Amino acid sequence: MAHRTFIAIDLEEGVKSLLHAWARTVEARVTGLRVPSPENLHLTLKFLGEVSEAQVGELGEALASLAKNISVFDLRGSGFSLFPSQGPARVLWTGVLEPERQLLPLVEKIESRCLEMGFKREGRPFRPHITLGRIKNPEAGDHVRSYIEDNPSPQKTWTQTVRDVRLKKSTLSRSGPDYKDLIVAPLQIG
Ligand code: ATP
Ligand code: MG
Repeated sequence: MAHRTFIAIDLEEGVKSLLHAWARTVEARVTGLRVPSPENLHLTLKFLGEVSEAQVGELGEALASLAKNISVFDLRGSGFSLFPSQGPARVLWTGVLEPERQLLPLVEKIESRCLEMGFKREGRPFRPHITLGRIKNPEAGDHVRSYIEDNPSPQKTWTQTVRDVRLKKSTLSRSGPDYKDLIVAPLQIG
């Protein structure tokens, strides 16, 4: 059986609640923003798409051996941003501060390992983001953009420790996506 998969960092409970609360403050003031449930908040490192059961095994081994050579690290982020950068907004997100320190090297290792396994390299540059809300129609997208521009980001930051990276399975349905861990690969402690 094939699985729709991606590699991600899971957020701590406290960060999920905080970010969800930020998203809800925007949702309360604009129309058309759809806010995911807090348990679905995550940071995608690599989207793989459909993979076979055999590939899940192979990815698990690759991820485990890669992760054990990388130390546990702290992840910090702040504020609101929008995709695309101009025009009607489609995604409200929060970004990572100083990603070049630990996050980008980790993503680069994952990319090259995935390339060796036959997955194609991401066409566009990696933009670390945690999706806080999605906007389906352009009118609402304009509304969200002007709201965000008039009400600059919460200046607060969020921070957490990254202890593992996960291969996740995504099941899409009308009620929204459901994510399950297929593999949890712990980072090296200390
Ligand atoms: P939905 O598609 O119902 O809006 P979703 O995007 O959260 O929900 P998936 O499409 O399964 O669920 O995606 C899982 C993760 O991979 C998400 O973080 C998504 O942003 C990311 N992702 C999906 N497709 C791609 C892609 N083509 N390139 C890069 N990242 C992707
Ligand atoms: Mg999607």
